[in-house]
Amino acid sequence: MSEEKLGLNTICTHIGEIKDEQFKGAVSPIYMSTSYAFENVDVKRYPRYFNTPNQAYLSKKIAALEHAEAAMIFASGMAAISTVFFALLKAGDHIVVQNTLYGGTANFIREEFPKHGIEFTFTNGYNVSDFSAAIKPNTKVIHIETPSNPLLTITDIKAVANLAKPNNIISTIDNTFASPVNQNPIDLGVDIVMHSATKYLGGHSDILAGAVASSNQHMETIWNVGKNLGGSLSDFTVWMLERSIKTLGLRVKAQNRNAKKLAKFLQDHDAVKKVYYPGLKNHPQHALAKSQMKGFGGMLSFELIDSFNANEFLSALKLIKPSMSLAGVESTMLLPYSTSHALLTQEQRDALGITNNLIRFSVGIESKRDLMLDIEQAIQSINS
Ligand code: PLP
Repeated sequence: MSEEKLGLNTICTHIGEIKDEQFKGAVSPIYMSTSYAFENVDVKRYPRYFNTPNQAYLSKKIAALEHAEAAMIFASGMAAISTVFFALLKAGDHIVVQNTLYGGTANFIREEFPKHGIEFTFTNGYNVSDFSAAIKPNTKVIHIETPSNPLLTITDIKAVANLAKPNNIISTIDNTFASPVNQNPIDLGVDIVMHSATKYLGGHSDILAGAVASSNQHMETIWNVGKNLGGSLSDFTVWMLERSIKTLGLRVKAQNRNAKKLAKFLQDHDAVKKVYYPGLKNHPQHALAKSQMKGFGGMLSFELIDSFNANEFLSALKLIKPSMSLAGVESTMLLPYSTSHALLTQEQRDALGITNNLIRFSVGIESKRDLMLDIEQAIQSINS
């Protein structure tokens, strides 16, 4: 059967399986060896070369999910992102990056690039005009992140890819928030897709990993630097990630459905001032999100009215965990002002719309009624 014709859940379950020829087990065996034969072999295998059996086979699954020719698995999302940037950029080159970016990526760029003579510009906004205004003669890469963290802004993926191509600029995207279930940027013209696989790909809050998908040509460039930087993932965790991705389609679609219901529930609630979710019709870029996403994702943010205190609200929750990170099967909430955006001043945060009462909600797969009841009881308990 042709791989291209396989449905999402079949790809999740079966592509990249290693057949257990010896014992005929139903799941992939784990090959933990760090030492492989070098004579009379077609591939010289070594974990830091990203080519052990488990690494190589899981890469096929990630590539199939992202509609790419090739993929690589890394030890973390940041290992993937830093390797890609160092592979594409050298001293004297320039990169345009979206202003609303995961804090770790922004810190990496600000702290490491000056040491290597790489120039960068953070855009003023996330419209295509903001990207074109930032391009310089030495621009080699444009990097975007959509939906963004924590306000779920949407960048026009196709328009940015179309801006990059004629200028010989490589376009890259962090597709973590959407996951390959909801968004396939390569189909929209983007060159390289990156993931913190710690999030939806892993999905159970127990794996730290990263992934990159692209053409064979770009992957060769990335591999050449990746083997020098050494950010490969242990085969045991590679195996766990392969197992986790079998339910990716089921999990993310359940999270999409829950998030949409919860966004509407919060929007109608008297204790809530504002809800940020691209699936809501009043989201300023709802139409754009609908045109480039297959589902609107499991992430949303909301702001409590001024008479409530978000810290007290989080402490009153009984089911939803106040917790860092995101995308696990369990629902979690955090306060961007005291976590991801803690290093900004109050004025900078207010200008971005990140108030002290803004709550980021990573919606899990629990019964939506239980999530609504938990939110309701927490609001009632801090209101009394
Ligand atoms: N990209 C996004 C959007 C993230 O949210 C994160 C982590 O929170 C990363 C990248 C970095 O991934 P990791 O923590 O796996 O290194």
